[in-house]
Amino acid sequence: MPVLNSIADAEAQMAGWRQHIHQNPEIGLDCVKTAAFVAERLREIGVDEIHEGIGRTGIVALIKGRAAGPTLGLRADMDALPMPETTGAPYASQVPGAMHACGHDGHTTMLMGAAKYLAETRNFAGTVALIFQPAEETGEGAKAMLAEGIMDRFGVERVFAIHTSAGEDLGVFTTRPGPFMASVGDFNIHITGRGGHAAYPHKSSDPVAAMLVMANALQTIVSRNADATDEVVLSITQVNAGSAFNVIPAEARIGGTIRCFSVEARDMVRRRMKEICEGVAAAMGVSVTISSKIDLDPTVNHEAETALAAEVAAEISGVEILGHPHMGGEDFGAMLGTRPGAFLFLGQGKGPLVHETDFDFNDKAAPIGASFLARLVERALPMG
Ligand SMILES: [Zn+2]
Ligand SMILES: [Zn+2]
Repeated sequence: MPVLNSIADAEAQMAGWRQHIHQNPEIGLDCVKTAAFVAERLREIGVDEIHEGIGRTGIVALIKGRAAGPTLGLRADMDALPMPETTGAPYASQVPGAMHACGHDGHTTMLMGAAKYLAETRNFAGTVALIFQPAEETGEGAKAMLAEGIMDRFGVERVFAIHTSAGEDLGVFTTRPGPFMASVGDFNIHITGRGGHAAYPHKSSDPVAAMLVMANALQTIVSRNADATDEVVLSITQVNAGSAFNVIPAEARIGGTIRCFSVEARDMVRRRMKEICEGVAAAMGVSVTISSKIDLDPTVNHEAETALAAEVAAEISGVEILGHPHMGGEDFGAMLGTRPGAFLFLGQGKGPLVHETDFDFNDKAAPIGASFLARLVERALPMG
């Protein structure tokens, strides 16, 4: 079965929704206008219930099928990224420094497209909970909605989500059972020394020299401490220090990310990071503190739900079961930690990748994703 007919007919309408959201990106938990736009569309579509303001700007909307049955959750993310846009599209971001570079405009649109079909046809036994979350990129949104008890409150028993991928041909779904996306952690290493005149380094404790040694030594955690058969990434992405060529600064900072698939590997990296930084700091006469704000769970797909989703994806347009997980992270992992379900990528055709300034969601993927979500509901909640 290809794309569902009535969803194919709504392609232009979905593109209009998507481009409106693209033009008006919002960041983090503050998806105020986006959520209002979504709620307005859901009211037009005629869903049965709309619950707004969950996890600050999240929405849960319910559509009831023709017969009673369990509740299935479908989740889309609504937030954009704090970065400039270079697509040159007529609907490019009108908000300086904010951009839908991860396709969440498309995810929200696909879920609204599925909602339109499901509210019209209702060929399922049970209830669909449409979950629109803010703050996927900051790793706060899913947890904020879960903290308000959405799974119990709406009786969600299984939960599914899709994410666009510019690494695959249009319409090709990819997924795998078990570990699929990495756990994501950040680190912030703050080094404090004693600043002074750069001509007299012996009178200061140079945090820049210590920062450089630490940054090099941290590279040995993956190469020397991690089990070679474990998938572990440690990337240093920020180094900051100093304000003038002739001043030794008093402090320096190293920031970055840790990605892996097990709690053991994550704990090992954090332990070695502490040992290395404290050892270097002691040797070089500076002090160091290490902190972290982000700790996303790995996204681990459940066997039966992944098999069902893969069957539906094959029916709609094709699916590939991957041999390896991705090192990228997904806030949706937190939802899969509470309920069985699955996460899939949907190919939108090869082009600029997500988080690049010229990335743009392909509107041709929207009817495919919406058909998948709608058909998944019909398959997961079959009528008698
Ligand atoms: Zn992203
Ligand atoms: Zn994303």
